[in-house]
Amino acid sequence: MSSEFGIVIHGGAGTILRMSLTAELEAQYRERLQASLAAGYEILEKGGGGLDAVCAAVNVMENSPLFNAGKGAVFTHEGHNEQDASVMDGRTLECGGVASVKRIKNPVDLARLVMEKSEHVLLCGEGAEAFATKYNIDLVDADYFYTDMRWNQLQKALEKEKHLKTDYSQLDHTPDDKHGTVGAVALDKEGNLAAATSSGGMTNKRFSRIGDSPIIGAGNYANNSTCAVSTTGHGEFFMRCLTAYDVSAMMEYKQMTLTEAAEIAIVEKLTRLGGTGGLIAIDRQGDIALPFNTPGMYRGYRLANDEPAVAIFKE
Ligand code: ASP
Repeated sequence: MSSEFGIVIHGGAGTILRMSLTAELEAQYRERLQASLAAGYEILEKGGGGLDAVCAAVNVMENSPLFNAGKGAVFTHEGHNEQDASVMDGRTLECGGVASVKRIKNPVDLARLVMEKSEHVLLCGEGAEAFATKYNIDLVDADYFYTDMRWNQLQKALEKEKHLKTDYSQLDHTPDDKHGTVGAVALDKEGNLAAATSSGGMTNKRFSRIGDSPIIGAGNYANNSTCAVSTTGHGEFFMRCLTAYDVSAMMEYKQMTLTEAAEIAIVEKLTRLGGTGGLIAIDRQGDIALPFNTPGMYRGYRLANDEPAVAIFKE
């Protein structure tokens, strides 16, 4: 499936069953996935950079209440939204991330600023927001992130926790809660690879829990000599497996193809540890992989001079 350039996106992996999505909601998801692909593809087609393409694609999903990132971020135990995001440039291996930011409309843009304007890789919380104001990134009121759906999910999780009598953080890919983290990977016409990931994390998370999405090597990785990867799923397992980097390392050190490396990372390694989720990846030849070990993953891709394709369920 080699291609001169292309983009792959995900909108979260989980227990996404045909019977649990109404036709109307399914249509809404497909429409937003198409819009995200179109935003990224248009940039690549015009000769724009992979980094611009992945950020544009992620912004579309961050601005939609359907996905657990930006506008649709899930609530913490205390009723806030704390978001994580990262980007990586495969040409230079430069990268940036933000964790636990509460008032950033598009966390992926701030992650990119961290990469481009600071000497650091990862900033968190109020410090990251102070950095944002230095660069005129608008802070939104916390109310911007309120949606009834996410609030109700938190109430359900809190109720469940009472009965369990133990901490209960709900992943966004459990049966009643199937809207996930977003990500994009791209190969541009110059042969540069880039990756971006953005997430609200887990419903009812507490103690400033940070997931894999802002962690380079776990939730995100790009290297022009191998591939670009963005992950979604139970972050703690992706951090233990360093899944995104592992795909690149298997290609680099064992000369595996992207398909082989991506399958091993999810179907063997992540699954063996008990982790659930998936990843999207593209390599320097424009080959792509989208493995997941859950019933569904919101996903899509568009390769040079080809039609866009989106899918939700395991088909
Ligand atoms: N990986 C994210 C986290 O653990 C959640 C997700 O991808 O759905 O924070």
